[in-house]
Formats: sequence, C-alpha cells, structure tokens
Amino acid sequence: MSMLSLSYGYIFSYITTIFQIEGNIIDKIPSLIGDVVTGLSYIKELNRYFGFTEENDFSVDKEKFKIDKIENIEFKDVSFKYPDANNFVLKNISFVISSGKHYALIGKNGCGKSTIVKLLLKFYSPTEGKILINGIDIELISQENVYNLFSVVFQDFARYQLTVRENILLGSPTKKLDIESVIEQVNLKELNNLPNGLDTFLGKIYENGIDLSGGQWQKIAIARSLVRKSQLRILDEPTASLDPLEESRLYQDYQSLLLGNTAILITHRLGATKLVDKIIVIDEGTVKEIGSHDELMKKKDLYFRMFNSQKEWYDE
Ligand code: ADP
Repeated sequence: MSMLSLSYGYIFSYITTIFQIEGNIIDKIPSLIGDVVTGLSYIKELNRYFGFTEENDFSVDKEKFKIDKIENIEFKDVSFKYPDANNFVLKNISFVISSGKHYALIGKNGCGKSTIVKLLLKFYSPTEGKILINGIDIELISQENVYNLFSVVFQDFARYQLTVRENILLGSPTKKLDIESVIEQVNLKELNNLPNGLDTFLGKIYENGIDLSGGQWQKIAIARSLVRKSQLRILDEPTASLDPLEESRLYQDYQSLLLGNTAILITHRLGATKLVDKIIVIDEGTVKEIGSHDELMKKKDLYFRMFNSQKEWYDE
C-alpha cells in the first residue's frame, strides 16, 4: 500500500499504537506480532511523512526538562496552520488545564478540537504562541516524555485483530492487572459470555474470530486507555458509535473512574458537559467561552444555544 493511499483514519489507528505500546512489546509478547509489527513500521514511515521525527528531540535536553507530574498546562495565544495550508485552523487560543480537574472541549465538527490535541501531543508545533506544561515550553520537552504523560482514545480508535484480553492489555506497560475489574468498570461484562470469554479472538481474520458492535469496540478502546498509567486522559469524541443514552451512561461511568485524575473530553455532543468542572467552547478556531455548565447557561450565548438544541437527545 502506498503511503499516499493511507486513509486519515488508518493513519490515526497506527499513530494510536504509539501511545498504547510501551517498551519492546515484540520481545515480550510474540503472539501480538502480526498487526502490531506492521503498525510499528508504518509508524516510522508516518513519523517521517508527517515530520514527527525524533530529530526534533536532539535539541531537547531530555533530563533537564523531564516532567513526571503535570501540575498545569497552558495554551498561550496559540495559532496554528497545517503545513502547506493557507488558513489558520486555530487563532490565538488561550486556556489553562489544572491538575485533577475535568474539562470538556466542545464545538462543531471542524472547529479545531482535535487539532488542539495534536498540538498537545507534539504531532505539530504551534505556528505562533506557546504551549507550556508546568510553565515549561513543550518544545523543550521530549516527544517520548510527552507521550508518557497522556493517554488518548482517538475518534478513530484502533481495532486490533487480537483477543479481547490482548486488546485491553496493549494499554498496560506492566500487563499485571485485574482485567475483570476493568471490564466491569466500563460495563463490558457481557464479553465474558463470548465463546472463549476474554480469550476470544476479535476480527474476521481468524476462523473463529468474532466482531463486536461499534459501542463495544469503543468501550474496549476506553478500557485500553484506562489501564495505561498516565497523567492526563483524553477522550476524543468517545461516543460516535453510541446512542445518546448509552453515551450519557458511559460518561457517568467514566466520570467516576476518573475521580482525582485530570481529563479532557472532546466532543460536539453535550451529554457530558454537566459533569465536568470546566467547559471550553471552541468556535471557528477561537476560544469562544470558558466556564462551568451553570455559568455558561447563564451567559445565554453559544453554549446555551448548543445545549438547548441537543437537550431532547438526552431526556430519558
Ligand atoms: P474537530 O476536531 O473540531 O472536528 P479538527 O481539529 O479535526 O476539528 O479540524 C479543524 C480544521 O482543520 C478542519 O477544517 C479540518 O479540515 C482541518 N484539518 C484537520 N486535519 C488536517 C490536516 N492534517 N491537514 C490540513 N487540514 C486539516
């Protein structure tokens, strides 16, 4: 397959692999080789393709600016245009994320939400302005350090042709955890009823492999991110495969799982916004409003209009 024929979603499935595979998994789990190895070689190419090279890191003093714990993240007047694009996708974005709080980044499709995440993960550098973690410019922090701070469930999460258990454990560097309790936490106990329970192969490439519904795959992606130790959890549009009521339930479960952690939910649907500490409303690449649900409802501006237009989706 030529690089140019890779779809955006396909590319992101493999980029997601970077965050979910810790250390040298090939040595540790030979059975996982197949898809994953292919993924790793693609990642190398993709890194070059997108210019996400480790070369940038040669100028980074890895020890001097090593971050183990996030206290805060600040976007300071960040503007961004994609390489070779003419238009700015983000324009003078400023906001602060504080440790232990939950945020929702909301706005219509195409307003720039995922781009904010890509900058946070150092896929690209801001064209103007700065991103600071604990007051340190992200440009001075190594890519590896940044990857280790975050766990992300992308819109287009990966569906590995592995067993249920392996699909979830890919997120865990230690592989020592109580998978049953994770499954229970994301309301996926029904997977125990599969023909071989958690050792059932997922995907059609296996003779006895089975496929899951979009919602079940989504929960697996969330479980995978939950088992990964990280300082900040990001769910990019986690609910695309769920109906609004399933979505509300998932957010409620997720909310209780995340207590004490820092989290950012990114969505154009407002089922979760009442649950978070702060909502950042993005409109055409700018920050339009920031506040709690109650504060923004009182303002009767963009958030208020969006919330009212979606309200009936969430009325049981
Ligand atoms: P959202 O997550 O809010 O739906 P995105 O951040 O994905 O929005 O996209 C913001 C804008 O940037 C859109 O106009 C989109 O078409 C554009 N865009 C996204 N990715 C790229 C890219 N790799 N190259 C050029 N433009 C892009």
